[in-house]
Parts: sequence; structure tokens; C-alpha cells
Amino acid sequence: AKSDRRGTYRFFEPEMDAQLQARRLLEADLRKALANKEFTLAYQPEINIRRHEISGFEALLRWKHPERGMVSPAEFIPVAEDIGLISALGEWVIEQACQEAAQWPDGIKVAVNLSPVQFRNRTLVETVDRALTQSGLCPSRLELEITESVLLQDNEMTLATLHQLRRLGVCIAMDDFGTGYSSLSYLRSFPFDKIKIDQSFIRELTSRADCLAIVQSITRLGSSLGMITTAEGVETEEQYRHLLAAGCTEAQGYYFGYPLPAQDLVFSLYPEKQP
Ligand code: C2E
Ligand code: CA
Ligand code: CA
Ligand code: CA
Repeated sequence: AKSDRRGTYRFFEPEMDAQLQARRLLEADLRKALANKEFTLAYQPEINIRRHEISGFEALLRWKHPERGMVSPAEFIPVAEDIGLISALGEWVIEQACQEAAQWPDGIKVAVNLSPVQFRNRTLVETVDRALTQSGLCPSRLELEITESVLLQDNEMTLATLHQLRRLGVCIAMDDFGTGYSSLSYLRSFPFDKIKIDQSFIRELTSRADCLAIVQSITRLGSSLGMITTAEGVETEEQYRHLLAAGCTEAQGYYFGYPLPAQDLVFSLYPEKQP
């Protein structure tokens, strides 16, 4: 809004009004989407590049809007957080992911993204516990991904929740590592099972020496702390070679596989070599 000469503000200029309307519409549609069964999960493989096998799949939320088609989670998750819908939606994701993964071959994990807002909800631990029991999924096959912003808020309660989740037997991964502030102190405050190196470092891995140096030191740090390191957004064979040389444990990205619906998943690498 622009200020006029008297120092007051004029809201609802035409273009702002249109923006606001679009937002209200998105909110209204989002509120109906869960009941209308418009959400699905797509699963993207995480590859153990040392052992040449699939270690698990990350569940990525997909919203098929009746008129707009696919809407990106980057667009609707912040809105769901704002309007208090993320807990119900996140609960659905946890339950759905556990149920689908319980059908997969033994030992294949499923990773679920958690919103920082879900951490403020006291029912999170209960929800995870119930989803595991109802699906019969072995707890060690569930991995919860959190970002640094989770650890920025109310530290004591967050740490307590993380420890409670760990006691259920699930794995905890730090997502988008390297993009937040003072990442290293977080590794000291909680023993993560896995560090996922943000894709911004992988994108320029082969063209910038500083990116390679950062990835190498994260990998070294991770392994000395007993944590798995996973590189995100791997798109080329060259990047994959560099990661292998850098000592990375796992890789994920379009080079290895796109996110796919549960019914299209293949659980072994190089399926063309299978009988
Ligand atoms: P994220 O957790 O960092 O997930 C990785 C994103 O990178 C996904 O985008 C994935 O499709 C994309 N990606 C995978 N491989 C490549 C690659 O090789 N190149 C490039 N350029 N991109 C790649 P997506 O599915 O659009 O999800 C975006 C973000 O939305 C996720 O980022 C995550 O923060 C959030 N999100 C997705 N599903 C959920 C969910 O169930 N709950 C919550 N709270 N957040 C979710
Ligand atoms: Ca993630
Ligand atoms: Ca990520
Ligand atoms: Ca990300």
C-alpha cells in the first residue's frame, strides 16, 4: 500500500485486491481438499551410492486442484501453515506414508517431511505412534525430516519432542542442511541420523570449487559424527561421481529417479537387469 500525503495508507488498490482474492480462494480450496481426497503422495528414491541399492523413498505431497491441476507444495504448504491446516494435513501424510510403506519390501525406508508448525502441536508424537501401530510399519523404517527452522523455535520443547520421537524408534534427518543459520550448533544439540545436503550445493558442485569443498567437509563431519549424508537434487552422472569421491553415503535426485505415485515404484536399481 502506498502512503498518501496525509501519512495514512490506502489499502485495496486494484492489483492488491486481486492478489488477496486469489489467496482467499486458495485458502478456501485448501480447506476442502483433504475431505475431497485431492492429496496424494509421490515417492522419490534415495540411493545408497556405495552399496548401489535403494535405501528408501521420500514422500512428497501432491495436490491435484480440481481446476488448476497440480499445485506445488512450495505454494500451498506455507498457506496451510498460516491457516492452521498443516497439522491435519501433516497427520494425513504420516498415516498415508506409513500405510503405503508397510506394503514395500523389508528394509526399504520412507521419509516424511515435517513442518515446524507440526512441532508446536502436542499430538505429533501420538500421531506418529498411532500411524506406526495401525500400519504395522517397523519404526526403524520411518524417517522424519526436519529443517533447521524447527530448532530455531522453543528449544526445550522441540528437543523433548525429538527425543520422544527417537524413543519410538524412528530416524530423524536434518533437511536442507547448509541453508539456515549456524547449522553446526544444531548438530551438537541433537544427534541426527542423517544430514541431507541442500541441493543448492549440488547444483554447482562440478563448476565451483567452494561448493565441492563445502560438500566434502559436510560429508566428513557427518561420518565422524556417525551420521548418514545424503546429497539432494543430483541431476547428472558427473555430480554423482563427485559425490561418491567426496565420501557421501546417499544421493537423491532426477538422475536416479523422479517422485512417483506408490503404484509405480520399483524397488531395485537397474530394473532392466532383473529377470
Ligand atoms: P524438500 O523436502 O527439500 O524436497 C525436495 C524437493 O526437490 C522436491 O520438490 C523434489 O521434487 C525436488 N527434487 C528432487 N530431485 C530434484 C532434482 O534432481 N532437481 C531439482 N531441481 N529438484 C529436485 P517438491 O516435491 O516440489 O517439494 C518442495 C518442498 O515442499 C519440499 O522440499 C518440502 O520442503 C515441502 N514438502 C513436500 N511435501 C511435504 C510434506 O508432506 N510436508 C511438509 N511439511 N512439507 C512438504
Ligand atoms: Ca525433504
Ligand atoms: Ca530438502
Ligand atoms: Ca528444499
